[in-house]
Amino acid sequence: MADKEMMERAEHVLYKTYNRFPVVFDHGKGVRLYDTEGQEYLDFGAGIAVMGLGYGDEEYTQAVKEQLDKLTHISNLFYNAPSVRAGEKLLAASGMDKVFFTNSGTEAVEGALKIARRYYYNKTHGNAPAGEIIAMNRSFHGRSLGALSVTGNAHYREPFAPLIPGIRFADFNDLDSVKARINENTCAIIMEPIQGEGGVYPATEEFIKGVRELCDAHDLLLILDEIQCGMGRSGEMFAWQHYGVKPDVMTVAKALGNGLPVGAFLACGKAASAMIPGDHGTTYGGNPLVGAGAEAVLDIFERRRIVEHVREMGAYLWEKLEELMASSETVCGHRGMGLIQGLEFTVPAGPIVSKALLEERLVLISAGEKVIRFVPPLVIEKADVDEMVKRLGRVLEHI
Ligand SMILES: *Cc1c(COP(=O)(O)O)cnc(C)c1O
Repeated sequence: MADKEMMERAEHVLYKTYNRFPVVFDHGKGVRLYDTEGQEYLDFGAGIAVMGLGYGDEEYTQAVKEQLDKLTHISNLFYNAPSVRAGEKLLAASGMDKVFFTNSGTEAVEGALKIARRYYYNKTHGNAPAGEIIAMNRSFHGRSLGALSVTGNAHYREPFAPLIPGIRFADFNDLDSVKARINENTCAIIMEPIQGEGGVYPATEEFIKGVRELCDAHDLLLILDEIQCGMGRSGEMFAWQHYGVKPDVMTVAKALGNGLPVGAFLACGKAASAMIPGDHGTTYGGNPLVGAGAEAVLDIFERRRIVEHVREMGAYLWEKLEELMASSETVCGHRGMGLIQGLEFTVPAGPIVSKALLEERLVLISAGEKVIRFVPPLVIEKADVDEMVKRLGRVLEHI
């Protein structure tokens, strides 16, 4: 079997930091994936919330191919037009003032943390103890050492200690717990508007507004990590737009490039000028190829009204998951917004995800121990939701 041989080869060469499912994917179209044996799968994971436009979108592919033929990389010592146009669209969609393109989510978070440190350094003229940052328990911000330092999962952090100092963890959706961690050295608060990896927990309006007010009162930068919940997934272009708050710094990645590795941090107001030439850089970041990809994604979002489609499909998915919850004894919670929703189970989610994949050819991903996260391509239709619920329903009958 070709698949089996490839998996064995993979285990020989790839550094073992993942326990992979026994599937080798070969190609995709829309919300369907095909393995090397030609078997079709329905995908409600989108490569971890990345493939917003689904697989093989013709317009997107065409735009990237054209750029591939023209110029892929030139470095940030020079200008390139695709990234400028992508940046303009990101600023227009967010109301932020400046953007910096990165190669990944974790790098976008690193940049955001550097803005916070730099802002505090400018303010105190370097004459104060290190600036402290408040982060949230159960959060996820990435795997590089800085992003890991603000990730609220001790299990991920512990083996790599000591991480960057001055990070205090508060409880998400508990304003008093945030308040209690502010002191005269605090410089920023970082959080996801909807915690993704931690189990799909949206911020309450009271909490996120309260955090914004605390930041204003104490001159702290509010950093919102939109890497997973941004780019239309929540039913607004950026999840914070549901709440009537605005961050000083925000991060995006995942769906921004529809599979090309591109992220960004954006800043506004005082945060937009905290770093100066020489403070930060990247060799690949924002090269013309990924710029063309992001530009195509943002164009298509506008022209095809993707965010409105997410609202409609999100409401439909909500309804169907509510029905599933009512009919299954193992489902005990349902949370989320738009096309980032989670079902909480009374049993571990891992075996359900595995059964769905191998027996029903349904791609789902877990979040935390007992939550299944639904983050499909944003272009799903009602029939895909119906099909997903049918397949998942059959899996749950035998759990
Ligand atoms: C995925 C994710 C990251 C890290 O992004 P990478 O591209 O994997 O480095 C950071 N923050 C959030 C909220 C994420 O979901």
